[in-house]
Amino acid sequence: MQVALDDYVWAAGIATDLVNTAPEVWHGEEHLPDLAAFAGLHSIPTSARPGELRAVHRLRVTVRELIDHADRAHLIAGASALTSTSGHITLLADSARWAVSPRPGATAPEVLSLICGVGILGVVQTLGTERFRACGAPACRGAFIDTTRPGRRRYCMPGLCGNRVNVANHRSRLKRRDA
Ligand SMILES: [Zn+2]
Repeated sequence: MQVALDDYVWAAGIATDLVNTAPEVWHGEEHLPDLAAFAGLHSIPTSARPGELRAVHRLRVTVRELIDHADRAHLIAGASALTSTSGHITLLADSARWAVSPRPGATAPEVLSLICGVGILGVVQTLGTERFRACGAPACRGAFIDTTRPGRRRYCMPGLCGNRVNVANHRSRLKRRDA
């Protein structure tokens, strides 16, 4: 597997998806009980070695901590550490874009770690540290990395948290109207 170094939108999207599987975002319910399903969704090869799921849960805590404390030096140091499993830099065969390969024999958590590191570094470099944010929905404990062009994303899971806020606003409008 190769990770294109300029594809931070894809990589940061995986980092965002990962942190929002945490029990703290789902009122205590684990939303990453099975690594194969998450890896399959994002086309990441898995080897299903013992302990991998636990390693990914630890990675999730690390990535969340970085999003929550989005100081530039801290982000760069933390994300660089996540890329320690990279093997070598190369060019993608089909497009000649800069890419990095995990070192041979890297586990799924190591590949995911590399992806999260590349995503965070790419966003810091291209978009800036203000793109690491907590979800704007009042009751949500999610977080996200905003890779949209205008940078006005507000919710960790726009389809879910954005809709909840819309429904709540709609209800309060109706209530005001009926009052
Ligand atoms: Zn949210």
